[in-house]
Amino acid sequence: MGDYATYLVPERCRVDAPEREELARRMVGWLQDKGWIAREKSDCVLGGDGNGWRFTPEGMRHMADADHEDLVTYGFCVETHEKKGVFTNHEGGLESARCPVCGAGIVDDFYDLVEAWYMAEDWPPVVCPVCGKASDIRAYQLEPVWGFSQIGFGFWNLNEDLTEEFVAEFAAVLGEPVRVVEVAL
Ligand SMILES: [Zn+2]
Repeated sequence: MGDYATYLVPERCRVDAPEREELARRMVGWLQDKGWIAREKSDCVLGGDGNGWRFTPEGMRHMADADHEDLVTYGFCVETHEKKGVFTNHEGGLESARCPVCGAGIVDDFYDLVEAWYMAEDWPPVVCPVCGKASDIRAYQLEPVWGFSQIGFGFWNLNEDLTEEFVAEFAAVLGEPVRVVEVAL
């Protein structure tokens, strides 16, 4: 089995550099103060800059209601993007993508639409190839869920899902809603 991660990605697309740093510091500090991740950074994740903070047994219990495992890749990371961020599920890709206006399935077009959105100078709405209506990229209904933000928070190789309570707690400390993006490599 390959590596996998759960990313908590803010709904908000635009998070400028000073705020990205502030949010990263806040969330890492909170998880450390709670004793759920290690104090020191180490090579324990596959996202971000490749370094993260290992989960602790207390953290596993609290965050995922799971037992601690002794894995090499097993930690929390912050992934930031200078330009725009697209957090995909990676392996297997999208099963479906639906226009929020007409409901048409446009999964075959969606990758090109995302690329055009990514390459654009600003943050344009995305035009549905079926009905021609423009919608915010985040309004397209995707399975599995993707995230579109300049910052995302990764949890690598959790053997259980993050609990709903923990996700709500995380979003409250972050101060804004997040999407849960499941990533498999
Ligand atoms: Zn449409």
